[in-house]
Amino acid sequence: MTTVRTARRTHGFTESVIREMTRVANEHGAINLAQGFPDFPCPDVLKEAACAAIRADVNQYAVTWGSPRLRRAIAASYARWYGMEVDEAREVTVTCGATEAMASALMAVINPGDEVLIFEPFYENYGPDAILCGAVPVWIPLDTDRPLDLDRLEAAVTTRTRAIVLNTPNNPTGQVFKRAELEGLAQLCQRHDLIAFTDEIYEHILYEGTHIPLATIPGMRERTVTISGASKTFSITGWRIGTIVAPEDLTLAIRKVHDFLTVGAPAPLQEACAVAMETLGDDYYAGLATAYGERREVLVSALLSAGFRCEPPAGAYYVLADFSAISDLDDDAFARWLTRGADGRMERGVASVPGSSFFHDPVLGRRLVRFAFCKQTDTLREAGEQLRQLAG
Ligand code: GLN
Repeated sequence: MTTVRTARRTHGFTESVIREMTRVANEHGAINLAQGFPDFPCPDVLKEAACAAIRADVNQYAVTWGSPRLRRAIAASYARWYGMEVDEAREVTVTCGATEAMASALMAVINPGDEVLIFEPFYENYGPDAILCGAVPVWIPLDTDRPLDLDRLEAAVTTRTRAIVLNTPNNPTGQVFKRAELEGLAQLCQRHDLIAFTDEIYEHILYEGTHIPLATIPGMRERTVTISGASKTFSITGWRIGTIVAPEDLTLAIRKVHDFLTVGAPAPLQEACAVAMETLGDDYYAGLATAYGERREVLVSALLSAGFRCEPPAGAYYVLADFSAISDLDDDAFARWLTRGADGRMERGVASVPGSSFFHDPVLGRRLVRFAFCKQTDTLREAGEQLRQLAG
């Protein structure tokens, strides 16, 4: 039966809870603080450039690994932000979002039976990505209040370990990894000949510290696949423009997988992203972080007064909040209850993501939910008013 074959193909993971909570939010007319996408417009320059590209009939496939103009803009951006020298002809691939970037990159490099180290709590795609490669995800607990525990990480390395996935700024914890942590990680990767896959999609959304690409740490450029994209930086999650910077040998393999998976990312939208990267100055990027900093304050103070326990994140746009003082429900039931309007205790529901979706063992996330604050301040204030009603 077809269902049996399908089940085999998806063995080991279930549907995305993040995307599911958006559907539940829509069903209940709730304020959606679940899936991380902005509810505010993107910069005009992107809209104008996208329309102009379509009017100029940029309608056919772009070069498979990315339009030359966009790859040039990406290389220029890495040089400008991080002093990183990138060859746009040999080291850059444009994909359908960072999601495809991570999947294509892992598929190109990881063999069945390999082990992939993944920190948890994790963004929920990494485990399924590893499983799609026939690899084994190995979960490494991440402490939010202490520096990276390199001994614990090293203890998890075996002869089969091939790679590590690092997400900084981190979804869902908001951690921004520091230079000393990255240096330790770099030494470990070199000692054990590991490839690092970094998800740096929130690179411009940070409140404390600096974003340091792992590829800029000595010895890492040749063994790091740096993934990012336009979704979060330009508030265009639906455009699906992701980017990969990797050394030539890895890029050759990644481009093949990318080609057979998607052929290429949307051509006119690639042109628009190139224009945005060429035109937007430092004030845009600084303004993005400042605006998110304000949204962070609105959400965190509302959560604290509603009775949640949480810390303001150092980067990205999520707050992982402990709801033990509010309810005895488990995280799934609590998130659904909140989305329904807490059964009459709130006028309007607020959707979040159950904490268990960020852990391999659901028990570890049972007292947690994640809220996204990539929303207009008014949306967050309204959500705050609703949540405060929980405190009675
Ligand atoms: N990264 C965002 C989140 O964690 C959106 C994920 C997605 O659905 N692509 O909510």
